[in-house]
Formats: sequence, C-alpha cells, structure tokens
Amino acid sequence: MLPDSLGEAVDALAAVPAAVPVAGGTDLMAAVNAGRLRPAALVGLGRINELRGWQYQDGYALLGATLTHSRMDRPDFAALMPALAAAARAAGPPQVRNAGTLGGNIVSAQPTGDTLPVLAALEAVLCLAGPDGAREVPVSHLLTGLDPLRGGELVSHVRVQLLHAPQVFLKSSPRSGPSRAPVSIAVVLDPGRRAVRCAVGGPAPVPLRPLEAEQWVAEYIDWDASQGARSIDPAASAAFGDYVAQACVPEPPEGGPLGAGAQRLRRTVAVLARRALGRVLR
Ligand SMILES: Cc1cc2nc3c(=O)[nH]c(=O)nc-3n(C[C@H](O)[C@H](O)[C@H](O)COP(=O)(O)OP(=O)(O)OC[C@H]3O[C@@H](n4cnc5c(N)ncnc54)[C@H](O)[C@@H]3O)c2cc1C
Repeated sequence: MLPDSLGEAVDALAAVPAAVPVAGGTDLMAAVNAGRLRPAALVGLGRINELRGWQYQDGYALLGATLTHSRMDRPDFAALMPALAAAARAAGPPQVRNAGTLGGNIVSAQPTGDTLPVLAALEAVLCLAGPDGAREVPVSHLLTGLDPLRGGELVSHVRVQLLHAPQVFLKSSPRSGPSRAPVSIAVVLDPGRRAVRCAVGGPAPVPLRPLEAEQWVAEYIDWDASQGARSIDPAASAAFGDYVAQACVPEPPEGGPLGAGAQRLRRTVAVLARRALGRVLR
C-alpha cells in the first residue's frame, strides 16, 4: 500500500492491523532479508509529502518523520540544528543516508542510532498519529518504553526547540568514515536556561542523560560572556568527562573492579564528553 496522505496511512494500518509501516526500508528490509521479520503487508510512507519536509513553528522546528539523513545534512538544516545534521552525516554510508529516515531511526531505537542522543539532549517531542487521533510523547518516554507506540500509530513529526546556541554531536568509531559506533554523544547549550544538556548513546539500550554532571558543569560556565568567548577551566572540563563516564558506565552492581571492556568504554565516554564540551564552548 502506498498512501498519499497521513490520514490514508493511518486508515491503511487500521484496516490491516498486521501491516507494518516502511519508510526508507534500510532497517526493515535488512530484518526481512535476514528472516527476522515476515510482515503480512507493508504501508509505504514515501509518497506522503507532509512527512518529508520541515518547517518553523513558534521557536521550534517541526521535522517530518520521513526526512532523510541526507536532507538533514544540508546547510540550511545544519545552520539551525548542527548536532542533528552531524548525526545524520554520520549515519552509515551515502546510499543508506539517502534512504534512511529520522522516523525510522527513532522507531528502530537501536543503541547505536545516531540521531537518538541528539534528540534526547534537545528534549524532542514526537507527534504521533493513530486510529484514536493525534498525541505527543517526549522522545525519551518512547525510547524507554514508558509511553510506547500504540497499535496502528505512526510517528508523523518531531518537534525540536531551536536554541540558537552551539551544539555538538560526536561519535567514536573503530573505522574511519560513517559507521556504527560503540559510543556517541550530544552536548547542547541552552543559554536561556543557563543549562548544558548532554546525552550519551551506546553504553545502554537507550540514550542516557547524566543530569547531575550537566547541572554541575553549568556552574563553571560564564553565561554572561558572548557566544564564542565562553570558556571553562580545563580541570573542570576533564572532571565533567569523568562525571559523565561514571554516570553512563556505573560500577558493577555486585561490587568489585570494573572489567576491561567497561574501563575502555568509560575512557571513551570521558574523552568524547570533554571534547564535545570544549567544542560547544569554543
Ligand atoms: C549498512 C547500514 C549502515 C547503517 N549505519 C547506521 C549508522 O551508522 N547509524 C545509524 O543511526 N543507523 C545506521 N543504519 C540504520 C538505518 O539506516 C537507520 O536506522 C535509518 O534511519 C532507518 O530509517 P528507515 O527509513 O530506513 O526505516 P525503515 O527501515 O523503513 O523502518 C525501520 C522501523 O521503523 C518503523 N517506522 C519507520 N518509519 C516510521 C514512522 N514514521 N512511524 C512509525 N514507524 C515507523 C518501521 O516499521 C520499522 O519497524 C545503518 C543501516 C544500514 C543498512
């Protein structure tokens, strides 16, 4: 089925409850090809114009669920949401980025999903459309399962506040070029609230927000300095990295020393967090 509107797509999913929506197909078709999924029917979202673009809305950007990674990597988008553009740029090879979409990345909810830490740090809200109407859910509630997608529901849009302040996405990758990485991080400044927001992807099934580390480091930033002139003591920056790493890779619950893998992960998180903080303050 290839509906032309969001309403038609919702109706199609309601008419065939076993049907599955497909956007770019980069995750879904891989699961089908590997025999992990045998959908009774597919509802393609590719012809629905209202899901493809993005627009301003009262200090927010309303992003269509079928925005592709390639589209998010263009200069107009990157000027407003640099961290999301950087995550899109890092999400796999070009042919995957041309087809793969924001909504698919969210619903697939892989620990290595590159847009997810950025959306968590930006406290994005998902607009959902389903047989019982429209509703909104914070991205963190959907990812943690606190408020999952209900039967026949689609992600229609993603609402992101425009902060007009530096934001950075970094990922550690064992290989050069875009590939899945064990750790990714987003750090955004919210000067209006004098806040630093950070989310780490990889160590856990969902992006982690080290809230105490965020609050701690915000005290060390000279918020009254102009953008680009803000700086931080290198010792505070290094301590922030360690704080984030300890929050995201905790001590083993049974006590005892951290294993070698966990130590490596902690080091990687600490380096990325320190580097990302340095870049948003530069
Ligand atoms: C070789 C390769 C490399 C990759 N590398 C990376 C990488 O480095 N980083 C990364 O983050 N990802 C990577 N990916 C994963 C993939 O490209 C992304 O997750 C992509 O964003 C998925 O989007 P899609 O449109 O292709 O989703 P689809 O495959 O179409 O759908 C994925 C899931 O989401 C559901 N879905 C899709 N859209 C909606 C919607 N609007 N509402 C409700 N449900 C929906 C589908 O039913 C399905 O369950 C890679 C994939 C491949 C094949």
